[in-house]
Amino acid sequence: MNKKKVLNKQNGITLVALVITIVILIILASVTLSATIGENGLIKKAQEAKDRTTNAIKAEEEEMNKLEQELDTIIDNSVNSHIWNRSGHYVICSHCDLKFEIGKSIINYKTKLSENKVEITPEKSGYIEKQVLIQEQDISWLVLGIADENKDGINESLLITTDKPVNNIILYGATGYLYGVDELNRVCKELYSSDIESARSISIEDINEVLKYEPEGGTYTTDGAVTWQTTGNFTTKLKELSIWNTIKSVGTKTPDGINTEEALGEYVLNGYLYRENGEYLICNINKNDTRYPIKEIKNELELIVGAQNDFQYLVASRGGYVAHSMYSIGIANVSNGGISNCGDLFGNTGLEKQIEAKLRPVVSLKQIP
Ligand SMILES: [Zn+2]
Repeated sequence: MNKKKVLNKQNGITLVALVITIVILIILASVTLSATIGENGLIKKAQEAKDRTTNAIKAEEEEMNKLEQELDTIIDNSVNSHIWNRSGHYVICSHCDLKFEIGKSIINYKTKLSENKVEITPEKSGYIEKQVLIQEQDISWLVLGIADENKDGINESLLITTDKPVNNIILYGATGYLYGVDELNRVCKELYSSDIESARSISIEDINEVLKYEPEGGTYTTDGAVTWQTTGNFTTKLKELSIWNTIKSVGTKTPDGINTEEALGEYVLNGYLYRENGEYLICNINKNDTRYPIKEIKNELELIVGAQNDFQYLVASRGGYVAHSMYSIGIANVSNGGISNCGDLFGNTGLEKQIEAKLRPVVSLKQIP
């Protein structure tokens, strides 16, 4: 009897313990569950940790790729880059002894064939119709000179140009003057770039450089052609000339209304002006001019104006003719064996004109194909 009572008591204790155990287990389970799958649970934290690791790996990979690319560029440059120097009619690389004759050596340059068509809108050319130019195929590329594109004192680029002018382009009036230079460069870039090299239009600086002509700056006259002066730089604006007061008093409004007196004064002339008597200030290639030694630059001259002085093309530089109370400004162009008048797009006579000529693309090669 006594023994049974003890047993019963023992059974009672076990039940309570069981209940408590179960309750504790339930509490523990709920705590564990919420710790595992709750808002800030272990699974979420593990997921976040995984994401962070993945991102860190990705960032590290990107960083490594970048470093690898930089290293490749450095290696490429030290192996493939050239250091060009001009020596008479030749350009020579001091790295690898490559030697090219200016105006004579042909470079095997291949343009991108996929983008072989380009449009010029009337809004940019001033010409009444849209113009469509197609990349020309029947051309060779000749060595024009060398350039220090990144201005570090080393000529790392070889300049090449087409063996003859290409395509045809029309510019008209003040609009043609305002956008002409940019349009010439854009059209050349879109038609004659390659996958790695970029084309642009030839400029007066290119021509002066290859002909070794160093202009002092533009020259203009004051009233009555008494005084000859130089502007001394190549960013001269019309309104900075002492002749401007005389010019604007004559009247400057042209039919399209863009070039009012004030606007005209703001136009940069680049300092390439002409003397009244027609002497070339840009590069004097008049064969009778003894100041300029033609014989020494025969190849270079042929490259610029053609063997028979037969080339005619636009040059991506602005300029003008200013004398007395008259002026005419425009885009420079090569014709009849010289740089023709930069004027002729519009002037203070109130008339706007049209110029039509070809293009002369230039490519700066960093690698020799
Ligand atoms: Zn070299």
